[in-house]
Amino acid sequence: MRRISVNICPRPSSSPRNKTIVNFQVRPVCLPVLGLLAALLFFSYAGATTEETIPTPGLQPVYRIYLRVHLANSSRSPEEFGPIFSEINRIWYTQAGICFEIHTVYHDTPLNDGLDMWFSPYIGGYNGYYDGEFIQMSDVPDLARVENPARSSAARTAAHELGHALDLPHRQDSDENLMRSRTFGWQLNAQEIKLARETAADIAIEDTTPLTCGSPQIRREETSSPQLLEQP
Ligand SMILES: [Zn+2]
Repeated sequence: MRRISVNICPRPSSSPRNKTIVNFQVRPVCLPVLGLLAALLFFSYAGATTEETIPTPGLQPVYRIYLRVHLANSSRSPEEFGPIFSEINRIWYTQAGICFEIHTVYHDTPLNDGLDMWFSPYIGGYNGYYDGEFIQMSDVPDLARVENPARSSAARTAAHELGHALDLPHRQDSDENLMRSRTFGWQLNAQEIKLARETAADIAIEDTTPLTCGSPQIRREETSSPQLLEQP
């Protein structure tokens, strides 16, 4: 019978002829190769199917910044903020090695150490703005479409305002830019990344050992305890 060999580590074949079987030959010497292939398959699978997986940034150290999000006035449900927060971190972490350690609260007391953001149904016709101290966000910002858009207008606008909080000015030369006004663009250039990281280094959590952001701490108002509200 004819024999079809699928040999991952080829060697001179001594296969008998006249068989029609498929034979996977795996030799001990090939184990490192197989391990590498398995790892590649795993990571490509994880990247393709796990929406919340955020690729490792190219820049280190990762600067982690506390971000307190105030939801007392928001018309959105707490559950809606999970994907929004993930996308904010995807935009900043993958491009600039900056991530936000996010927790939600239902009061107006700002952090001593980090950034604060409020969500409200209406903020005077703005999508969002940074007043030099705090970020105000419309619940549902209205943005122009672009070729490679962010998924959520709220996430994109929040990421844009965080850019201002990290000292970035507007950059209007392409709709794809994160710092373009009123579009779904999310891209940073090298100069913006450098400037934002310099500011981030000043306000980041001192421990720069961790390379990933923690999961957002999203609480419903009725389950928030005074102790939790005051952290950090
Ligand atoms: Zn702006």
